[in-house]
Amino acid sequence: MKALFFEAAKASGLENEEIGQKLIETSARQGRSVIDDLLDSKLINEEDFLRQVAATLGLPYEPDLKPRHSRKLRDVCGAQLALRHRVLPLSLGPMELPPEYIEGEERPAASSLPDVEAPPDAEEAAGKPDRIILATYDPFNLLSKQATSQAIDLPIEWRMASRTRVLHGIQKLYGVGADTFEQILAGREGDTSFMDMKEEVNVLDEDDEEASVVKFVNTILRQALQQRATDIHVEPLENNLRVRYRIDGRLQEVPVPENIKALQSMVIARLKIMARLDIAERRLPQDGRIGLELEGNSIDVRVATIPTVEGEQVSLRLLNQEKFSIQKLGLEPHVRSTIDSLLKMSNGIILITGPTGSGKSTSLYAFLSELNTPFRRIVTVEDPVENKLEGVMQIAVKPEINLTFAAGLRSILRADPNVVMVGEMRDLETAEIAIRAALTGHLVFSTLHTNDAIAGITRLVDMGVEPFLVSASVRAFLAQRLVRRLCKKCRLPVSHDREYLDSIGFPTPKHGGNGQIHMINTRGCDHCNHTGILGRLAIYEIAVLTQGVQDLVVKRATESDIRAKAIEEGFIPMRQYGFKKVLDGETSIEEVISVTTMDMKMIEDFAPTP
Ligand SMILES: [Zn+2]
Repeated sequence: MKALFFEAAKASGLENEEIGQKLIETSARQGRSVIDDLLDSKLINEEDFLRQVAATLGLPYEPDLKPRHSRKLRDVCGAQLALRHRVLPLSLGPMELPPEYIEGEERPAASSLPDVEAPPDAEEAAGKPDRIILATYDPFNLLSKQATSQAIDLPIEWRMASRTRVLHGIQKLYGVGADTFEQILAGREGDTSFMDMKEEVNVLDEDDEEASVVKFVNTILRQALQQRATDIHVEPLENNLRVRYRIDGRLQEVPVPENIKALQSMVIARLKIMARLDIAERRLPQDGRIGLELEGNSIDVRVATIPTVEGEQVSLRLLNQEKFSIQKLGLEPHVRSTIDSLLKMSNGIILITGPTGSGKSTSLYAFLSELNTPFRRIVTVEDPVENKLEGVMQIAVKPEINLTFAAGLRSILRADPNVVMVGEMRDLETAEIAIRAALTGHLVFSTLHTNDAIAGITRLVDMGVEPFLVSASVRAFLAQRLVRRLCKKCRLPVSHDREYLDSIGFPTPKHGGNGQIHMINTRGCDHCNHTGILGRLAIYEIAVLTQGVQDLVVKRATESDIRAKAIEEGFIPMRQYGFKKVLDGETSIEEVISVTTMDMKMIEDFAPTP
């Protein structure tokens, strides 16, 4: 058996034979799963290795796992059995259902489409199955084979598949936390453990063996963090309790156990207890916080409950205590050098523009982190304080006691700061105080709700700020948007004809890059959780108020005149910045176009036809 593993490992990328040999020896001696240990070691290619093992054993290998007749499969092979023994039921034989009842394409993780399920009578009509087909990635796990054959009252046919696909498939078929869930339902009476709330911080790493609502809720939270979700929504529907994660800005429905509705009130009560909310109050919205810990990282969670007609809905926002730095913004050199010189200034206003959810806070925090030294006093007024920065005085606005941006800013200025950040310039009063601060020797950061950098200039004037004050105090407008980052393991190369590229202002090859453009692979791969996407990146444009631009501002020139002047003086619009990232293979043309605009003048300037 050891020789079989060794040969298969050699055939699938094992470089250091000695290390591989030793790993197999140790693992086998300790009675562990050699397959798990080899896969965990990452010394080999998972797919190649398991395919090789299957071939040697003469077991059929399934490259694509698409369970058919999900409901029936879940009945025959319960969640606990599948999860504990890591087997994925694939189909029942011969049970041939009419084609319209058979699930089609593998459901992408992001989809919220319901399973196409055969109605019970169709399954009934198809007769009783005479066998079940199960997928495993470890055919040497005798314990699992024994347990499944004892629990399932049908002959079993085994298939092999990759570990990633089996585990992913189990989660999709049964829903997150399904094993725990089954046990809770079985012993539901008298489970009050979820009422306990001993610790200040909830450590997610350690779950005890016992199934409980606590464990189930922890699974939902842990899963969200592992998938880089920023929000979790637990939403009661008439016949279901829906759980959705927001990942990379998009909502994705989380597969949950079928009968989750039965535990709705307990799940919601547990979340409210964690957030220290009043569980008896179900008619009014409440806000709270949960402190979580996962693998040594602390995660702050803001919790909001909303009473709906179907019951209380709970929204959780996961605030990662991430480290901010300018490097992490991945700025193109022209923006980076402009930012560097702006941050060296001792006074003036730097404004960031963009809609909600365009990553403005991340940029602001990165800039403040860069300036955060013992020699500078940095004070902020924010709504709310999204992330804490060590050594920075941060104030949260509280309109109910009249602590507004303007009031906060006014009091900050009496507290001798060098650098000030005010969350948003929402009104003339705030803008005027900020300008006064800039003119009296402070470096001020803030945000404005406008579409692009140049529009920021006219927006301030429209708010009622005197044009000469804008030109005297504001140093630069930075505009940004987020685009989705392509998974480099599965992105697809694509080519467009020059006519199309010219029409959108895409640079000609001589403007840089090797010209290879990629697009998202909507089927995705194991690396990107079958989404084709790995996070997001920001694209920018920065308009510096040069002398030429300042003159136009004072003359109350139109936005398009100012834009033309800015371009003449080196302003590079966001779309061009985005296209650079397309040429780098980081994102797609479609992503960039969906968040940027461009007028004909800019197209002529940036994509001269050869
Ligand atoms: Zn991928």
